[in-house]
Amino acid sequence: MRVLIVEDNERIAKLTGSGLVAAGFAVDLAPDLASADAALGSASFDALVLDLGLPDGDGLEWLRRGRRARTVPPALVLTARGALDDRVAGLDAGADDYLTKPFEIDEVAARLRALLRRPGARTDVELVIGPLRFDTNRRACFAGEKRLDLARREADLLELLMRKAGTVVRRQAIEDALYSFDAPVTPNAVEAIVSRLRRKLDQACGCGEMLHTVRGVGYLLEERA
Ligand code: CA
Repeated sequence: MRVLIVEDNERIAKLTGSGLVAAGFAVDLAPDLASADAALGSASFDALVLDLGLPDGDGLEWLRRGRRARTVPPALVLTARGALDDRVAGLDAGADDYLTKPFEIDEVAARLRALLRRPGARTDVELVIGPLRFDTNRRACFAGEKRLDLARREADLLELLMRKAGTVVRRQAIEDALYSFDAPVTPNAVEAIVSRLRRKLDQACGCGEMLHTVRGVGYLLEERA
């Protein structure tokens, strides 16, 4: 897993970098936002460790812009600013996790691993699995060039499965995600949504078999080999 550390304090950058290398990460360092942009433009990173006070700008503002342009991988924000307001602003700006200085390198490594494991780590606005493309801003889903005509819960289910593609999503988790606490859920509601969605995928691209039923457990969306 490759991590870019954006930190202007040389000592902290080197300590964090060597700690993460020892923990098995591939690490690159960027001392400012311009170098971070250059690094992200020339290689693919799995995660970002981001300081906020940087010589050429505010890390949070940069992160917010990057999130909009979808150029930034999941980010762990490291900062001396520990106030609650700053944490909320950091998470609002698209930070995936937040750690205040001083920190233990082991905790940074653990948080990064958790962040990369997290199924929701796909922070992309657009999800793409095989022939399926889901624009989460417009709530529009396409199979190849064809736009799918999905009911709200069918779209919600597809988004959930696409975000967790390759892993089995438990039936209960789907129910929880699709229905608010006070909405009535009939016993076969999820099955019914799954079968309608599968039929629509089949009609659109013959790709209904991407959506597997894992008997007694849940459902799995997988890109065809
Ligand atoms: Ca700094």
